[in-house]
Amino acid sequence: MLNVKRFIFNPFGENTYIVWSDDNTAAIIDPGMMNDYENSVISNFITTNNLRPVRLLNTHAHIDHIAGNNFISNKYGITAEINIDDYYLADHINDQAKMFGIPYASKEILAKQNLSDNETIEIGNDKLSAIHIPGHTKGHLAFYSAKSGILFSGDAIFRMSIGRTDLPGGDYTTLINSIDKRIMVLPDNITIYPGHGDTTTIGFERANNPYLT
Ligand SMILES: [Zn+2]
Repeated sequence: MLNVKRFIFNPFGENTYIVWSDDNTAAIIDPGMMNDYENSVISNFITTNNLRPVRLLNTHAHIDHIAGNNFISNKYGITAEINIDDYYLADHINDQAKMFGIPYASKEILAKQNLSDNETIEIGNDKLSAIHIPGHTKGHLAFYSAKSGILFSGDAIFRMSIGRTDLPGGDYTTLINSIDKRIMVLPDNITIYPGHGDTTTIGFERANNPYLT
């Protein structure tokens, strides 16, 4: 079974997750750290718990979800895995910072490799499956484990809300269709860990999410 720890980082209140197997093999999902303090919070947790990060996964390449990629890549020697349809966002991280008016400048190029729909991500004795959920961005992924009963939904679906679709690459109809076909087909008891805000479940969103009626 996978264990999950949530951190809330950066001015966007973004959820960064560490998920690890019982042998302490870990994946970091959407590292959003934007300063030295936030970097120390996550690295201290990894050290204290003897975790061994082997995967760096991005649900999508908005700046609040990838700002800490270089820190994690350099410290643990792992390359960020992003769907290829979001590469253009990762390549323009400094433009994103300007657009949102936040003080961030990356001199390094964010290293990345493609993560495709339905790909299996091994984490020790456990695994996650990548699910392509376009709409918030073109290459948006969710990460799912049926065995552990968990879904990392990024900015596709939140507790009683959905991701915004007014940014470049966003499309409302595409997002609603993605959520219907790829997320709401999962069992009610699955816990959703979203990119912002509190944890929820598939069953709670099926009954209460005003965008999915
Ligand atoms: Zn986003």
